[in-house]
Amino acid sequence: MSNYTVVLTGAGISTASGIPDFRGPQGLWKQVDPFDALSVNAFYRDPKKFYQFYFQMLKDFSKASPNKAHLAISKLEETGLIKMVITQNIDELHQRAGTKNICEIHGTSFKGFCLNCGRIKPLTPGELIPYCDNCGGLVRPQVVLFGDSMPDDYLLAEKEAAKADLILVVGSSLQVSPACYLPLRAKEIAIINLEPTPFDAQAVFLSHNKAELDLPQLLEFLNLEAK
Ligand code: NAD
Repeated sequence: MSNYTVVLTGAGISTASGIPDFRGPQGLWKQVDPFDALSVNAFYRDPKKFYQFYFQMLKDFSKASPNKAHLAISKLEETGLIKMVITQNIDELHQRAGTKNICEIHGTSFKGFCLNCGRIKPLTPGELIPYCDNCGGLVRPQVVLFGDSMPDDYLLAEKEAAKADLILVVGSSLQVSPACYLPLRAKEIAIINLEPTPFDAQAVFLSHNKAELDLPQLLEFLNLEAK
C-alpha cells in the first residue's frame, strides 16, 4: 500500500498524441540526432537553423491533444492517489489534461527568455529567430537543452521521489541522465513502458504495454472515470 505515489513520465506517454519520442519504434532519433539538434552548442552555433527544427517541433506540440494516459493521470491526481507528476516532457500535455502538481524537469517549450535582460517571451512558430520585445536581445527556449545544467524543478523532483512509497514510470526509456536515477530514490518502482528499461529488474510492477491502454484499465479497476 502506497501512501505517497509520484509519477515520472517521458516522451512515450505522448506518442499516442502524435508526438514522436526519441528512442521508441517511431522515435525522432531515426530522423535527427537530438543530442545535436537540441543542444546548447547548436543554439549558439546557428540560432536560425536551431529554430527551424525547434519551431517545427513546437508546431507538432501545438496540434497535439492530451491522450487517455494523460487524462488518467490527471484523474488519479484529482482523487489524491497521485501526489506529484514529474515529467521529462516539454509539451505541456499534462497541464492541458488538468494535472496541477507538476515538476517540469526539462522545462517547457512554449516559452523563452532573453539572454540579455531575462524577460520571458511566449514562443510561437513563425519568426525566424525570436528577439526580445524589451531590449532586442536573443531569446532562447526555456527548455533544458543538452549541455545545460538542471533547473530548480529537478531539486523538487528529487525531494518528491525520495518521499515516495511508489514511483510509477510511464513512457520513459530511463536512459536520459540524471532523470533516470529518480526512481532509485523511491521505496518501490512500477514501470509501464513499451520496451525494456535498465530498471525493469527492480520494478514491483512491470508492463510493456501502451500507457494509453494500461492507465485507463487501472482507472476502470478503481471504478474511476477520466474527464
Ligand atoms: P525516450 O524517447 O528515451 O523513451 C520513450 C520510451 O517510451 C521508449 O522506451 C518507448 O518504448 C516508450 N513508448 C513509446 N510509446 C509508448 C506508449 N504508447 N506507451 C508506453 N511506452 C511507450 O524518452 P524519454 O525517456 O522521455 O527521454 C527522452 C528525452 O526527450 C526527454 O528528456 C524528453 O524531455 C525529450 N522529449 C520530449 C518529448 C515531449 O515532450 N513529448 C518528445 C520527445 C523527446
